[in-house]
Amino acid sequence: MKKALVTGSSRGIGAECARALAQEGWRVTINYLNSRDKAEALAAELGSEAVRCDVSDSAQVRAMFERTGGVDLLVSNAGIAWSGLLAEMTDGEWRRIVDVNLGGAFNCCRAAIPHMVHEKAGSIICISSILGVYGGSCETAYSATKGALIAFVKGLAKELGPSGIRVNGIAPGSIDTDMLSCFTAEDKAGMVENTYLGRLGRPEDVARAVCFLAGDGAGFITGQVLGVDGAMVI
Ligand code: NAP
Repeated sequence: MKKALVTGSSRGIGAECARALAQEGWRVTINYLNSRDKAEALAAELGSEAVRCDVSDSAQVRAMFERTGGVDLLVSNAGIAWSGLLAEMTDGEWRRIVDVNLGGAFNCCRAAIPHMVHEKAGSIICISSILGVYGGSCETAYSATKGALIAFVKGLAKELGPSGIRVNGIAPGSIDTDMLSCFTAEDKAGMVENTYLGRLGRPEDVARAVCFLAGDGAGFITGQVLGVDGAMVI
């Protein structure tokens, strides 16, 4: 059975990706930071295991990969948001969002690559954001981390292509998860209004795109970032 690791899969998009991949026959390790009960319940549901690891910490990431062993698919999904005026962001808030959103992808990819190179096969999918493409007011730092992830995907795809490893990204629009909980109903209505398909995205929308990019049907696709945004206008 092929093995996958989905970071930040205790809830939201990551949890739905784990469920969808398991339905497609992957053995999926669940990664969490704080939501232990949810992660363990999902792991039990999928017959897999849940591993606590802060993806921003390279030592914890190494330990997580020692537990899972090599994986054939890494979905680098764990991420945090920060909304506010950039001029009011503290050093610590800036460092944390960069360390989790960008550093987490670096730590996990670096740990996943040796096994994939050995196998001359594998797939990495990084969850970026529509804000990484267009930028978002009051989400400048978040946008910067997600934009950097797009360049990361494109660079790594070239680096790993000769080893038979594909690297792609997904840039979701507004997806109805806890990450949107800081927004009012009015804010969310505005997001819907700015989305030509006329609704918020659902975690399943992203999960289906992950399954496509992970599958054989995407065997000649690498270095791409797929928008899953219902034609959202920022
Ligand atoms: P969410 O509901 O807030 O869930 C975030 C997940 O990331 C949780 O499972 C959380 O684990 C985990 N996590 C956070 N920091 C972590 C860390 N340092 N180490 C390990 N896990 C960590 O968010 P979501 O909406 O599902 O977002 C998932 C990804 O999609 C993120 O990268 C986000 O930026 C991206 N995205 C979301 C949207 C959207 O509209 N929702 C749009 C574009 C992109 P615990 O709960 O266990 O701490």
